[in-house]
Amino acid sequence: MTQIDCTVCGSAAQRPAWTVKDTLLEFPGEHKIVRCPECGTLRMSPRPPFEERRKAFTDMYPLFDWALGRRHTAVADERIARFHNQIAQISKRHQPGRLLDIGCSDGDFMLGMKRRGWDVHGIEMHKKVADYAREERGLDVTVGAEHEVDWDGVYDCITLFGVIEDLDDPSACLKRCNEHLAEDGLLVIQTHNIASLEARFFGADWFNVEAPRHVWHFTPKSLKLLLMNNGFSQDVLLHYGSAYVTERSIENRRGKVFPSSTMDRILRKLIIMPVERITPRIGQGIEIESYSRKSGANL
Ligand SMILES: [Zn+2]
Repeated sequence: MTQIDCTVCGSAAQRPAWTVKDTLLEFPGEHKIVRCPECGTLRMSPRPPFEERRKAFTDMYPLFDWALGRRHTAVADERIARFHNQIAQISKRHQPGRLLDIGCSDGDFMLGMKRRGWDVHGIEMHKKVADYAREERGLDVTVGAEHEVDWDGVYDCITLFGVIEDLDDPSACLKRCNEHLAEDGLLVIQTHNIASLEARFFGADWFNVEAPRHVWHFTPKSLKLLLMNNGFSQDVLLHYGSAYVTERSIENRRGKVFPSSTMDRILRKLIIMPVERITPRIGQGIEIESYSRKSGANL
């Protein structure tokens, strides 16, 4: 276990926030989350070594369901549709070229981009999931964590969906993204928003705290600063809501399945669904998605 400094501003200062357990997969251990008083980023500190933390991405991780054969119902088109907005956003900002998806899981997003004419490559550290993407879907996926493998050349777009919060060193990863992006290349990062009203309301019970997989919890400001520190300038930050996250957070808080009563179903309709729609429009999305270019890119 090592104490870690803030990846955004480099400060070693910390204020205790919460002590939490893994409520999603029940991976053993208690984890301390601290807040950086300089920039507002939260982090797990001390932190187990990466080799220990990667075991917490067990076969039961929900995003691995299709690749590991637990769910068969959704056809590929429906699964790719989850990335509809990301595919549209990238398409309107860049012509098809080479794309690297870091933490590509079973390759749904890669398939969607391939259909748009992109030459797609992925990195995935869960071997069985990466094997599925390669063998069942014919995708070019390198097995390993991003810091362990060769990124193989220069790209027109690099994407990290729900990945930056898991990394040992997000700043080092973004520096590497800068080195592997073409001059007019696009960097897309999606992560959760620890400054959102919902995160502040649920605190330690917020579903996205998700220790020990999530090490870092960024605010819109601290993500922008991290990008600037590594040679990027942000074009736009999009906000998304998620009733799924709200409902799992309610379950964490009360220790009971949601919904489990008529009152819960009324709550879902009158509060949770409207919150999912309204919070992104007022800059309070629980997920944030950044589109950036290299600083000084001449477009
Ligand atoms: Zn900081």
